[in-house]
Amino acid sequence: MAVITEAAVRELAGFRGQGAPVTTCYLDVDGRRLSRHRDYEQELERILRSARVRANGNASVGRDLQRIEDYVKAGFDRSRTRGLAIFSCSDEAFWQVLPLPVPVRSRVIVNQAPAVSQLESLTQEFDRFGVLLADKQRARMLVFHFGELVDHSDLLDELPRDYDSRGHSDQGDVSGHVDALAAAHLRHAAEVAFQVFQDEPFQHFTVGAPGPIAGALEATLHPYLRNRLCGRIAVGVTASTAEIRDAALDVEREVERRQEADSVSRLRGQVATGNRALAGLAPTLEALAARRVDQLLVSADFNEPGWRCDACGHLGLVGRVCPACASQLTPVDDIVEEAVEAALGQSCHVEICVDNADLDVMGRIGALLRY
Ligand SMILES: [Zn+2]
Repeated sequence: MAVITEAAVRELAGFRGQGAPVTTCYLDVDGRRLSRHRDYEQELERILRSARVRANGNASVGRDLQRIEDYVKAGFDRSRTRGLAIFSCSDEAFWQVLPLPVPVRSRVIVNQAPAVSQLESLTQEFDRFGVLLADKQRARMLVFHFGELVDHSDLLDELPRDYDSRGHSDQGDVSGHVDALAAAHLRHAAEVAFQVFQDEPFQHFTVGAPGPIAGALEATLHPYLRNRLCGRIAVGVTASTAEIRDAALDVEREVERRQEADSVSRLRGQVATGNRALAGLAPTLEALAARRVDQLLVSADFNEPGWRCDACGHLGLVGRVCPACASQLTPVDDIVEEAVEAALGQSCHVEICVDNADLDVMGRIGALLRY
């Protein structure tokens, strides 16, 4: 699975069909939820059916939808794929399939440009992520990026053979010697982790070890690593890569939710004091038109029909004539998706917030402004 970068998403967002619209399909194929092939085929049929109605006989879109259906029904490797993002514009021979390591919200969007907001949200969630697992004798250091294992080191330190059977209850010099060896092992593990970090830094870090060992290990870590700690995972040193990856993905999602909550609370504070921030769809669209947006915050499942001006780019909730240039407006399925694309095009930071009730109360969208 390729790592999808923010730059790649922006490039995708910049694609325009000359005469024909672009069809975007997100499909949830998560094996934990939709166990059989038949389950997600039904989901696909449901979203394609409504897209065909909206396509209203457009030949290029019709071919897009057929190609998407054929691709999914032909089957693909689901062992690591939980979501698909597909972009097609048949008239321009444009076709991209991105397998994703996490589930997505199934939907088809037909618009002037690829609908990248879900993808944008995923690239934010997937920083490089370090995982250090240890027991009394073994340690494993792994780095994941976008749900893929990109680096790992294994470490086995010698301890007396009957260490486990004697445990910590032994008295005297021998147990002191064993404790010293165990402490040396954890120091060694912490050094390996820091070495991996120095070779190529990761943004987040988590530890998996039995309770007393985890505490001792965390205390031994280089401060750079301790600063990046975001919780422990309940995964042992002998776990499979898939188990470790799943646990790391869960921690990553928690980290991302916390970042979203911080951004929303900043937005709420600044809106309350009238300090370079606003909330609600109509004011946000106006701020985008004026290029005043620094950061756009939007609820992940928010969508709303609206109008776009093909002549000047105006986005609005009311048709049919552009208030900026008096051209005829085009109705669009989802003006929120258009707003995200406009923001990306203006190099704004876009925060897609999942299950954030505070943002929902403020109108499900808002912006921190440049001025
Ligand atoms: Zn206009």
